[in-house]
Amino acid sequence: MSVKENIEKFKSALPEGVTLVAVTKTKTPEMIMEAYDTGHRIFGENKVQEMVGKWEVLPPDIQWHMIGHLQRNKVKYMASFVSLIHGVDSLKLLKEIDKQALKHDRVIPCLLQMHIAEEETKFGLSEDELFKMLNDPEFLSLENVQIKGLMGMATFTEDQDKVKREFQYLSKVFKKLQDRLPEINTLSMGMSGDYQIAIDEGSTMVRIGSSIFGARNYG
Ligand SMILES: *Cc1c(COP(=O)(O)O)cnc(C)c1O
Repeated sequence: MSVKENIEKFKSALPEGVTLVAVTKTKTPEMIMEAYDTGHRIFGENKVQEMVGKWEVLPPDIQWHMIGHLQRNKVKYMASFVSLIHGVDSLKLLKEIDKQALKHDRVIPCLLQMHIAEEETKFGLSEDELFKMLNDPEFLSLENVQIKGLMGMATFTEDQDKVKREFQYLSKVFKKLQDRLPEINTLSMGMSGDYQIAIDEGSTMVRIGSSIFGARNYG
């Protein structure tokens, strides 16, 4: 199937209220334009340089989401245009995003990334760290970032029950967070291999790469 067919299939299958982020890492601007031409506008990248390179050559009405682990020294390169940062996992990083957003006189929407997987290699906050951060006076003083919700990645495993438990946990933390911050509305969870479970557990935003654009070749 073509990119166009894949993306149209996804868009018609997703329930109302679930936003599709088409993940384009390693894919060419030409392939992204195939998706763009179907009317899709939300694209995700996991590396700042790659995202900036594509932003420079692709139409300006694309909404670029940074979905990968983010180094503080890279924030400045995308602060003028990024539309949502999914992987915010420390107050230090959030402060840098705030500082760079101020330089561009804008407010950058952010998701806080929670660590829900078993793998040590995955990034993110614990529930304790999350709620501690929310009470930190420095956090409360930030004016150029806006917390929209949470993001998490489940363990890479065939064990569907495990994935389901991890998403249930994230969903539970999301609801607790909504009690504190009623304006939050975005729960970014689910990729090509596990989006169905994620949606069943309350995801409002799925990040789909290989099921739309084909397997990645990192040769
Ligand atoms: C690559 C990536 C995705 C998409 O993965 P697929 O399995 O190709 O759908 C989603 N989220 C993050 C953070 C990624 O890096």
